[in-house]
Amino acid sequence: MYVDNSATSPLNPQVLDAMIPYLKEEYGNASTLYFLGIKAKRALQKARHQVAQLINAEDDEIIFTSGGTESDNTAIKSIVLKQLKHKTPENPKNHIITTQIEHPAVLNTCKFLEEYGYEITYLPVDKDGLINLKQLENAINEQTILITIMHSNNEIGTIQPTKQIGEIAHKYNIPFHSDAVQSVGKIPVDVKEQNIDILSLSAHKINGPKGIGALYVKKGLTLPPLIHGGGQENSKRSGTENIPAIVGLGKAAEIAHENLEKTMKHNQQIRDALIEKITTQIPDSYINGSLKHRLPNNVHIRFSGIEGESLILKLAQKGVYAATGSACSTHNLQGSHVLAALQIKPALSHGSLRLSIGPENRLEDVDYIVDAIVETVEYLREISPLWDNKTNTYIGDKFEQPVINSTH
Ligand SMILES: *Cc1c(COP(=O)(O)O)cnc(C)c1O
Repeated sequence: MYVDNSATSPLNPQVLDAMIPYLKEEYGNASTLYFLGIKAKRALQKARHQVAQLINAEDDEIIFTSGGTESDNTAIKSIVLKQLKHKTPENPKNHIITTQIEHPAVLNTCKFLEEYGYEITYLPVDKDGLINLKQLENAINEQTILITIMHSNNEIGTIQPTKQIGEIAHKYNIPFHSDAVQSVGKIPVDVKEQNIDILSLSAHKINGPKGIGALYVKKGLTLPPLIHGGGQENSKRSGTENIPAIVGLGKAAEIAHENLEKTMKHNQQIRDALIEKITTQIPDSYINGSLKHRLPNNVHIRFSGIEGESLILKLAQKGVYAATGSACSTHNLQGSHVLAALQIKPALSHGSLRLSIGPENRLEDVDYIVDAIVETVEYLREISPLWDNKTNTYIGDKFEQPVINSTH
């Protein structure tokens, strides 16, 4: 049972069917003039329309990229490039506002820019994972060139108040970029309604293929390209278009758009059943992040006294595929930066589990998943030095090291 759809999601068979002709007989280059090229070009236009529809954009506001990571990089770095022209010693135009809980594609791009003299404000979040709008407004100064705040969080599923963030950004004439990779297809995303100027999305999080995504850039906001070449994508992102993947993204977007209401209900039903059953059956288990402002497909829960990695491996043996923290951060041993921003102690954040629901999960599977989690948490607590089996309580606080030197 795959409950790790926020890491990546299985390819929808209808998406595969739509792609296959473009991997076989329809191999044309969209820039050539004869029929093969014309067919490829038509496929490109159709996909652009399908993606635009999903977020209520115009077709020519969509640029295809290689995925969410490239879209995030392009959004931030092209704003930086654009402002280089306007920079003077008095006005270095070197300030960007983001949050402490962004995806690494945004966070590490900002860290990189710090090496080049950029000032980054990493807004904190409250214990629910939400930013404070007053703090956002107070962080704006004369040098602020961009506000980049994710639509929803990939670990804890918290949904930010995008509309209000956009209102504040526009009051000061600052462009607002939002990484909506986890939101599209899961909740309504409407760039006009939600005051978004630049938006990132990715196909493989919505049952499309990997290595393809899109960047929405509002008409009138001209951004210099990062990739120069043959002038594809209206000269905004050169390179021969990956037509099969683009067709796949288009189809995935169309399906996501058509089924949004149904998907939301389906996901929420399963999410709520999982949360209810897990928290009532396992003592000392807590939901990370807001319950109210939360993606319908996200369950993020921590169990004191255990270690997330062991939990994931044991669950996989039982055929339940889930994640600890975020798939992207399993490469490093420092706990999740998102849970740290929620002020959850490292020892406790390590016992976290993320279940992210997709269209193939069924309500009938909830009991199997819950039983697997209950059994595994009980077993891991039995052998954990941080858990007292006699009293059935967490005793990890006793082992806490005093903080000697905080690097933050
Ligand atoms: C997955 C993800 C990305 C990266 O997208 P890729 O297509 O894998 O490069 C960026 N932001 C968020 C929030 C994500 O969940």
